[in-house]
Amino acid sequence: MMVVMSLTRAEAADRAATVDVHEYEVHLDVTAEGETFGSRAVVRFDARPGSSTFLEFEPVSVESMTLNGVEVPASAASAGRLRLDGLASRNELVVSATMRYSNTGEGLHKYVDPADGNVYLYQHLFINNAGRVLPAFDQPDMKASFKVSVSAPAHWTVAANGLLRSSSGGLWEFEATKPISTYLASLFAGPFHAVTDEHDGIPLALYVRAALGEHLDAQAEELFTITKQCLDRYHEMFDIRYPFGHYQQAFAPEFNFGAMEYPGLVIFRDEMIYRSAVTESQREGRANVIAHEMAHMWFGDLVTMAWWDDLWLNESFAEYLGTRVAAEATRFKGTWTTFAMQRKAWGLRADQHPSTHPVAPVSVADTDEALMNFDGISYAKGAATLKQLVAWVGDEAFRAGLNAHFAAHAYGNATLADLLAQLAKASGRDLSAWAEVWLRRPQVNTLRFVAGEDGSAAAVVQTAPEDYPTLRPHKIGIGQYERGPDGTVSRRSLIEAEIAAVARTEIPDISGKSDLVLLNDGDLTYAKIRLDEASNAAVPTLLPLIGDSLARAVLWAATLDAVVDGERPVAELVTLVLAALPVETEVVIVEDVLRATRSLVDRYSTPETRPAALELVAQAADRLLAVSEPGGSRQLAAARGFIGATVEVARLRDWLAGSGVPDGLAIDADLRWLILYRQVVLGAAGPAEIDAEFLRDRSATGEQWAVRCRAAVPDASAKAAAWRSVIEDVSLSNRLVEMTASGFWQPEQLDLLAPYVPRYFAEMPAMMRLRSGMSAERTAGLAYPEVVVGPETRRLAAELLAREDLEPILRRIVRDHDDDMRKALAARF
Ligand SMILES: [Zn+2]
Repeated sequence: MMVVMSLTRAEAADRAATVDVHEYEVHLDVTAEGETFGSRAVVRFDARPGSSTFLEFEPVSVESMTLNGVEVPASAASAGRLRLDGLASRNELVVSATMRYSNTGEGLHKYVDPADGNVYLYQHLFINNAGRVLPAFDQPDMKASFKVSVSAPAHWTVAANGLLRSSSGGLWEFEATKPISTYLASLFAGPFHAVTDEHDGIPLALYVRAALGEHLDAQAEELFTITKQCLDRYHEMFDIRYPFGHYQQAFAPEFNFGAMEYPGLVIFRDEMIYRSAVTESQREGRANVIAHEMAHMWFGDLVTMAWWDDLWLNESFAEYLGTRVAAEATRFKGTWTTFAMQRKAWGLRADQHPSTHPVAPVSVADTDEALMNFDGISYAKGAATLKQLVAWVGDEAFRAGLNAHFAAHAYGNATLADLLAQLAKASGRDLSAWAEVWLRRPQVNTLRFVAGEDGSAAAVVQTAPEDYPTLRPHKIGIGQYERGPDGTVSRRSLIEAEIAAVARTEIPDISGKSDLVLLNDGDLTYAKIRLDEASNAAVPTLLPLIGDSLARAVLWAATLDAVVDGERPVAELVTLVLAALPVETEVVIVEDVLRATRSLVDRYSTPETRPAALELVAQAADRLLAVSEPGGSRQLAAARGFIGATVEVARLRDWLAGSGVPDGLAIDADLRWLILYRQVVLGAAGPAEIDAEFLRDRSATGEQWAVRCRAAVPDASAKAAAWRSVIEDVSLSNRLVEMTASGFWQPEQLDLLAPYVPRYFAEMPAMMRLRSGMSAERTAGLAYPEVVVGPETRRLAAELLAREDLEPILRRIVRDHDDDMRKALAARF
């Protein structure tokens, strides 16, 4: 186990004032088998003469260590830090050490592919893991050039941020990078498969495990096309061209994030190289990630936040620009619909949790807190806020402000104040009041439409939660919808309205009766939307007939949110799903409605009412399946939804055997696993079937599915083994632990699982000490007994939360999950 000490904001500020780092010259030796690798680093930096400092450093052993030619005792390195005293004005630290590979996705992650036994490595130093690979001043505002070389087995390939200078005899040497933050230094190594191309003078490359090579070959054209389209669009928008030489995109196994924006070498999770059929919305999601990571090349990599307070400067901008550029430049025009439907729900959920925080916190205390802020607020709410900002200042001023920001801080660091100053200058508007309510204050407003009556004007009533009474100015669209005599539904008008930061804003432009009034039509603002009574009553008949998918997404999102809040019963939602889903044409809406409804049914119905509600969800999916075009995305989305909700085990068995399969639906490797997983949950298949399927599909994905299925087996010894894996098996990689935890809790198995509810609260603190960082956080979240909705679960949560020594990340996870359960318990029927 590694003990990574959290770096505090004060320590970082102090260190940046003491030390000015120029270069890391790093040589890694990954030729030996086993769990360790060699790391030789030369760190060149200036300092205040006579001062002291420290570097993050977690060696297994130190072979030699000198500062300015003088030996540094090994005892200087302890508890994750290397302490240096008596610094000169120019310093050279030279360290040779043995370091440990990780299996948690942090530091240098080592992966053995079950398909062919090949070994792959990738380096992920974010958020404070540089010390797992080399001694480093590991904070975002201490940028330096990285000059990297790697000794690796001769049949491998190694890629890094910098351009390859030479490779021969198992030695890869890379050009020194431009100044970058430590968390952005990366590597990808192994006998991987590569496809290369070039665009506008920029060398392009795609890398993946050999076992996925044929799939990469089949998808390379789409990936390169999107990459080129996005590069062109960013070059139109920004004055500074792509600044990091080549643009390599690697797809790595067991990656913790969707992807990471390493300059010159973006790394994605390799689930994004598809080996089975996927839907158009999954392809859209991948295009969006490509555009998102590319946005970071400017926002994050070229200009970096000074400290994690301004994490949002990275993520909100990348989320906003990625969504926008994917829509503007690629064939995926519907990314804002996905954003309205899916991403904003993530932001809203995080923003209403007890742990809510501003988009731009004034001060983030340390790296632990920063890690926790990687949530729906920093991404989705921040991006929605930027969309609202663009509506306020106009796009031209927005882009002019960004370009001025890049010009002023290229290869350096910047803060919220720096950015606001440029945006204010470009737009001629004082943005301080806007920034205060939108960026500095947490939580969300509700906008409710009130129809005019007896001569009074229609109005928008704005409210805020009691604890966070801030009202905000909103610029929104308001759509009026009408059912025609022929049964079609049309938008009679779409007006733009400025809602003031007051409780009631009259909307005199809304006149006459319409069948449905939709606030935030066009999705310009970030708010909870509530309809008036008449509109609400019209939703089941009108929603399916509205032509604009973005309007349908806003309406669906508002409906789902009202159920989450207990304002509408989940039974009503299920009825709406049955009526409206079979005619839904937008795949992302189909997928998200099925997923969200399924989750609400699991948590908001009782064990008595759940089977009937779930049956209606299965029926809705089945009806959609019956009318979907063969082989299309909607058919696949419907099939997945049906498999996840049905209890018809005979039909599932037939599909696996290839009989009764809907025309055009490929029962391929991943769909086979999904069917088997459902059979296992229902007790219709067990370990023998899981083993047989894994023999048939001995791939990385097959291994993950097998682990997940084994955790779902409704049998006391299977549950005991799965729980042990989650709690104490550190030999299991990050991804396999996640898969185990995600298969464990099943609403169909409540009796069997009852003993594990108290065990979660008793044993999770020890699990958090055993695993690290993101892996620990993920595991604790996935293992939460959220389907065991009841006062006893809440009592145990309260008991754990009362413990003063509770680790902050676990405290946050338990508080937030418990708050979700509070809502579910109050609303369930
Ligand atoms: Zn990002």
